[in-house]
Amino acid sequence: MTPEPIYLDHNATTPPKPAVIEAMRPLLAVAGNASATHRAGRAARAAVERARAQVALCVNAGPQAVAVFTSGATEANNLALKGCGCERVLVSATEHASVLQARGDAETVPVLPDGLIDLVALDRMLEGNTRQTLLSVMLVNNETGVIQPVDKVMEIARKRGALLHCDAAQALGRVPVDIQKLGVDYMTLSSHKIGGPQGAGCLVMANCVSVAPQISGGGQEKNMRAGTENIAAIAGFGLAAELAVQDMAEYRKLAVLRDRVEAALKKIAPAVTVFGEDAPRVANTSMFALPGLAADTQMIALDLAGICVSNGSACGSGTVKASHVLKAMGAEEGVASCALRVSFGWNSTAADADAFIQKWAEIHQRTQRRASHG
Ligand code: PMP
Repeated sequence: MTPEPIYLDHNATTPPKPAVIEAMRPLLAVAGNASATHRAGRAARAAVERARAQVALCVNAGPQAVAVFTSGATEANNLALKGCGCERVLVSATEHASVLQARGDAETVPVLPDGLIDLVALDRMLEGNTRQTLLSVMLVNNETGVIQPVDKVMEIARKRGALLHCDAAQALGRVPVDIQKLGVDYMTLSSHKIGGPQGAGCLVMANCVSVAPQISGGGQEKNMRAGTENIAAIAGFGLAAELAVQDMAEYRKLAVLRDRVEAALKKIAPAVTVFGEDAPRVANTSMFALPGLAADTQMIALDLAGICVSNGSACGSGTVKASHVLKAMGAEEGVASCALRVSFGWNSTAADADAFIQKWAEIHQRTQRRASHG
């Protein structure tokens, strides 16, 4: 039997927690369309509404807020950016592709070398703004784990009369997420980044904003997202959100594993660069590069050893392209193409970190030997 892989790619997707799988199991087996008025339909509706309340509570959305379930964060981001009705859209340079590509006319706000948004540039871009504007800034970056100062972004947005969308797909369960405190208008969440199933997410709308539907059909989700709700996935998402918030203190201890990996790598090869190291980062993510040691060489060797990591944004379906996030942070193409991301999750152990360190040391040693033999 092949041994279980050592899975260090939790930012791409993290396995559903056992309690979530258990909660979903009965819902997969029953009929019941949440739009139907008979008892089976009402039971399905109750599951959806329970999940909606769970998710809203986890982000302190407040009584006025509306959460619309979608197929995931990609769809929620598209719904916000395309459906907000704003003439002008600004996105930070390190956003996920689903934000960057949602609007062809979006203007890009630069980031500083540590990955944090350039607040001075942002303020300047919005100076004298008179158009209806949406600004989209993520809370946590999926590649580097860098935490953006969304509160400061919010101050600028309000001062300049812009609405703010925040992609918090990588934030829930890792940092406190409080919509009312942040003041954001739109927030994106994703189930499969927090121990829920793949294929569910939501767009939370606060401050009485709404969106025009991007999928037409039935009037589901308050006429903002047509299509029969995925009951089991949505219920799993609701519970996962609750657990993610409950387990946050435990999750933050993953910093020990991340720091252990980073310290070990730097000891093996002092030229290792950790991206976003000087910025606030979430506990579970490390993106680093050793110039000269190509990411694909490492990926192949690690995969053969049963260790799953990523070379940047894993959503790119196997495409090997230097990360736009690192390029926006000013990394040279040659360095960016050596970048590897290790992301720990709720079931990671110290043994996982040690196995990675050991294998990486071997890869490094082998390439060093090869280089010295010309
Ligand atoms: N935003 C961010 C920050 C993400 O990390 C991801 C997933 N990599 C997405 C959006 C897309 O999420 P989903 O897979 O739920 O569509």
